[in-house]
Amino acid sequence: MSIQITTHGDVLRHTARRVAVASSLSIVLTTAIVLTYLGSNPAALVRTGDVIVMSLVAATAISAMLSGILSYRSARLMQQLTLMRCELSRISQTDQLTGLLNRRGFDEAALPALSSAYHAGLPAVVFMCDIDHFKSINDRFGHEFGDRALIEIAGVLRHFSRTHGALVARHGGEEFSVLMIGISHEQAELYAEEIRKTCAAREIRSGEICERLTISIGFTVARGETDLAHIMRIADQALYTAKRQGRDRVVRADEMALVAA
Ligand code: GH3
Ligand code: MG
Ligand code: MG
Repeated sequence: MSIQITTHGDVLRHTARRVAVASSLSIVLTTAIVLTYLGSNPAALVRTGDVIVMSLVAATAISAMLSGILSYRSARLMQQLTLMRCELSRISQTDQLTGLLNRRGFDEAALPALSSAYHAGLPAVVFMCDIDHFKSINDRFGHEFGDRALIEIAGVLRHFSRTHGALVARHGGEEFSVLMIGISHEQAELYAEEIRKTCAAREIRSGEICERLTISIGFTVARGETDLAHIMRIADQALYTAKRQGRDRVVRADEMALVAA
């Protein structure tokens, strides 16, 4: 059960309810203890020892009950806060439209993956994928169709991620990034072609409209210690070359670019 506290009044009401419950429980408990020790005959004589023992038992029972309830409530609150923090973190790392990781989520997951790759002596591959002529797709078919296209391309990448263990994200706008660890140049080229062809074959439907679109991909393979921003920049340069060369293609960054940059 979650607690909704948003205003000063909520705090007062919440506290008043807790105090009322605690007081009622204390009264019930005290009455039960008194009846147990003294019996229900109001005319019966009371021994001083019984009163002392009864008071001690009542005080101990009430404090044990209240501290138990308070501990339980604190544990529940801590649990709710932890869940809420996890949910906030998930939301801040997820792209709302496609459900893929956003750029922040990608960076947070990619940094430890790159570090592990470096320590294991494995190459890291980054693909930068960008939808071709997306602005004109929006202009011709409308923003809603554009959104549908983004969701479909994200679906292709999500499937690729599941089948090949890649980290994928919507990097921003109509750009998607992919990180793979431990694959060769040749394998990376095959994977990039697989993504490009699958996207080109996918029919995008929205209402009456049914269209296909293409994407361009620039990729690079990094070996040794390197930072994420640097690899992304090199892959982006390769993407830019793919655009210049006519789009709907895969271009690999020259390894010299990695050394020189
Ligand atoms: P190029 O082939 O060179 O990549 O050209 P382009 O038109 O794809 O690239 P450009 O950068 O000129 O345009 C990108 C467009 O993507 C512009 C922007 O309106 C659109 N866009 C960005 N985010 C969204 C979105 O969430 N939904 C929709 N429908 N469009 C978006
Ligand atoms: Mg584009
Ligand atoms: Mg772009």
